[in-house]
Amino acid sequence: MHILEGLNPEQEKAVKHFKGPLLILAGAGSGKTRVLTHRIAYLISEYNVNPWNILALTFTNKAAGEMRERVDQIVGESAGDIWVSTFHSACVRILRRHIEAIGYERSFTIYDSDDQKSLMRDILKYLQLDPKKFRERTVLSAISSAKDELISPEQYESRAQGDYTKEIYARCYREYAKRLHDSNALDFDDIICKTIQIFEENEDILSYYQNRFRYIMVDEYQDTNTAQFRLISLMASTADDDGTILHNLCVVGDDDQSIYKFRGANIYNILNFESQYPETKIIKLEENYRSTQNILDAANAVIKNNTVRKDKALWTEKPKGDAIYYTRFENEYEESGCIADAIANVVSAGLAAYKDFAILYRTNAQSRVFEEKLVLHNIPYRIVGAVNFYQRREIKDLLAYLRTIENGMDDISVKRIINVPKRGIGLTTIDRVTNYALEHEISFYNALENYEYIDGISRSGTKLGSFVSLIDSFKRHLEEPGYSLESLIREIIEETGYVRLLQEEDSDEANGRIENIEELISKIVAYEENCEDEPTLGGFLEEVALVADIDNVDESNDLVLLMTLHSAKGLEFPYVYLVGMEDGIFPGYSAIMSDNEEEIEEERRLCYVGITRAMKKLSLSCARSRFRNGEQQFNRPSQFINEIPRYLLKQSGVSSTKISSSNTSGLNTTPLKPDKKTMPGIQKSEKGGALFAGNPYISKGFGTTNQSAGSVNYSVGDRVSHARFGEGTVTEMKEVGNDYQVSVAFDNEINRKMMASFAKLKKI
Ligand code: ATP
Ligand code: MG
Repeated sequence: MHILEGLNPEQEKAVKHFKGPLLILAGAGSGKTRVLTHRIAYLISEYNVNPWNILALTFTNKAAGEMRERVDQIVGESAGDIWVSTFHSACVRILRRHIEAIGYERSFTIYDSDDQKSLMRDILKYLQLDPKKFRERTVLSAISSAKDELISPEQYESRAQGDYTKEIYARCYREYAKRLHDSNALDFDDIICKTIQIFEENEDILSYYQNRFRYIMVDEYQDTNTAQFRLISLMASTADDDGTILHNLCVVGDDDQSIYKFRGANIYNILNFESQYPETKIIKLEENYRSTQNILDAANAVIKNNTVRKDKALWTEKPKGDAIYYTRFENEYEESGCIADAIANVVSAGLAAYKDFAILYRTNAQSRVFEEKLVLHNIPYRIVGAVNFYQRREIKDLLAYLRTIENGMDDISVKRIINVPKRGIGLTTIDRVTNYALEHEISFYNALENYEYIDGISRSGTKLGSFVSLIDSFKRHLEEPGYSLESLIREIIEETGYVRLLQEEDSDEANGRIENIEELISKIVAYEENCEDEPTLGGFLEEVALVADIDNVDESNDLVLLMTLHSAKGLEFPYVYLVGMEDGIFPGYSAIMSDNEEEIEEERRLCYVGITRAMKKLSLSCARSRFRNGEQQFNRPSQFINEIPRYLLKQSGVSSTKISSSNTSGLNTTPLKPDKKTMPGIQKSEKGGALFAGNPYISKGFGTTNQSAGSVNYSVGDRVSHARFGEGTVTEMKEVGNDYQVSVAFDNEINRKMMASFAKLKKI
């Protein structure tokens, strides 16, 4: 039986599982995704399940595409009926059909983060809140967390009672929800939440989907949040032939790879799956088919420091393989230069292709230096997620035209283009129209249509009028039979003069923008040609809205890939460089400072994800110093490196410029986890400076920046003064990177934690 071929006994058991909940809990690279696809094939061919009854959910379009491809190969024709999709696209499909049930129109717009920010900016202004105190991003992230937990504006408000900041957030949340609704728009979180709302309020719709999706499968289950879990558990309840209710839900995941807590991922969804569904069958897969034993040993050694996890260890029948390379470079330029060099050498020796390499880092900003060096070495590369095509100004402008045509209630889009290209409509006029719309509770576009009735805009009136007739004429044309989306976008460009103005500008930048616009036209043409159903404007906009960064990567291209650790989830590469492995970067400052073990544990899981992407060779590196936010920083190697036993590591190519420390590698000689709580304290030297006793990273010759910890002359118990907070007593000092986190009890009864280098405390 070919579906079972090449599976180990545990994998086979999972593939053959038929009814009832199944939890496949397994480490990285153990074939979880593979099992999921084979199980789909097996359900269809052996249990005669109708492909129509299967729903497979995953996180990125790329993963969904891969899964569909694999299923197509095994199942053939009928695979088309299976829904293999991301959470968001599955929900958008449901919403397009049923959203009218909760008071939206089917032509709703999906707002991206830029749109959300513009909207929040308007709201903060409307509520007369000080934008310095209340930042759009912070408010939006509070709202998003609430939505992840399915907390409505009303619930948020009642919980906020007595907490000033939260009360403000509650007002913003309420207004935000109202405005989205008025604009017939959804943000990303709404896509899930509104689907749940439809299900909860409409029993008939829910029971339709429960009967339709009789077999539900979820990959990367560890990263589901509360809302997603609610969605799945609502759907996964179907009556068997004899009437018994079954939960044919198969979830696949690795608790050690949960890395989206900041987006609300709830690790307890996987840890508590069995208690949610007591009849759950659990299958563990332990054999890893991806990496060498040395790589797995390193991964195991790091992750075992986490306390909240199900115990498991990865092993492989593969040979031990190469040691893990570890290099501490002098700075980020040396790091990126040497890596580019190494890649060039391996490829020119014919040992590997460019696409076999991935460079993984913690934060997007780290990509820039690598980009420079790769260009210098003529190495083809792609940065995943650096500048999303659809975030570019010219693309957003043209999309805003399309969105205005599709959904005139989308205020953010209409406002974006009302004066782009310039048509002499000023801010005052826009404000007047906005106020009129708010007063009359109509959309901004409706207000434009009624411009004659708006006070004080007599002179601009005709301009508003011609904008409205321009949009109306696009709408009319689109309704003509045979009028394609391509004709529409070309007409928009022609009528607005958008490209003509760029041509007149004739700068490199303008020409780049024209190329991007041509690319957009190609995408529209490709959409019309490849679309399975009837191509529509709404369909195109939806596709655009759901494109995640990783989805733009075409695997056939021979390119080195650069991406954040988060984007690398689920992928594998023969050669992996984990770069910038420094305390303060990875784990990041906020995790180190938070004093919250949970945050460090999340970073550690991210490290585990990174290590387990590597198939053949893994290289870890860090830099002694690097520029960040315009300042030179000195970082010590990441604590995660110390968690890897030394015998697994091979130190290589240590930097050319030696410093006076004897320990140039920065490696702790004992592979023990440095424990923050038992870190040695600070000893005052005779000269009044402080030296860090017993720490191999900080030697006398090291840490000589003017703001470094070396210049701190106070310690616990000393009296200090601060420019703003006045005088106080030092209660605790903790070493962080090459700095100290100082806790001070100020005399005005405020306790504060601050970084020594920024606080500029003076001993008194
Ligand atoms: P991750 O946790 O990173 O998502 P995963 O558990 O989903 O990993 P897969 O991507 O399914 O793992 O498999 C990892 C690699 O091992 C793939 O290249 C896959 O083809 C291969 N593989 C899985 N099972 C077997 C097997 N029984 N025999 C040979 N190769 C296998
Ligand atoms: Mg996988």
